[in-house]
Amino acid sequence: MSNKLQQLKLQAESCIACKLATTRNRVVFGEGNPDARVMFIGEGPGRREDELGRPFVGRSGELLTRIIENGMKLSRESVYIANIVKCRPTVDMAMQKDRAPDQEEVAACSHFLQKQIELIQPEVIVTLGGPSTKFILNSKEGITRLRGQWHSYREIPVMPTFHPSYILRNGGDKSPLKKDVWHDIQLVMKKLDEPGPG
Ligand code: SF4
Repeated sequence: MSNKLQQLKLQAESCIACKLATTRNRVVFGEGNPDARVMFIGEGPGRREDELGRPFVGRSGELLTRIIENGMKLSRESVYIANIVKCRPTVDMAMQKDRAPDQEEVAACSHFLQKQIELIQPEVIVTLGGPSTKFILNSKEGITRLRGQWHSYREIPVMPTFHPSYILRNGGDKSPLKKDVWHDIQLVMKKLDEPGPG
């Protein structure tokens, strides 16, 4: 990890800027290649991620890893994976249910993600699901309308697609949404194959 990313990670690990600090077990900063060409962005850590301190390691993480490794033929280590918020948002004090981060939490935490993007400078960002897509594109549109088309964030091409947990909730391997995700991922692979500037 580059020194600056490492410093940022240390800052996040001691952060108490929002209420999620009181219920988290581990801060989930994000992981991957600091020189990644592709960066995946979700909304926030879930239960398993909170236990392990790593992003996308539960069931939806397994699906994302399959998309990266089997679909894109990239190693998980070669990309970068992060979330908008670094601590797990839960709906109940029993810590059983996950939810999307609220506006206050996003406002408190998103500077970490913005700095990660600035340091990594990926060639392509893939946003996973509605909350991260809305945040990155500063849009109120739903994911169904935004996915499958190129957008941009500070001149970096952005491809929104469905969150893996949404696919799992809608039929998993048999989900009709898989073909949409595959369509979006193919566009990403095509973009990565295009010759860069110069
Ligand atoms: S979610 Fe972000 S802002 Fe809130 S405590 Fe965790 S690191 Fe800090």
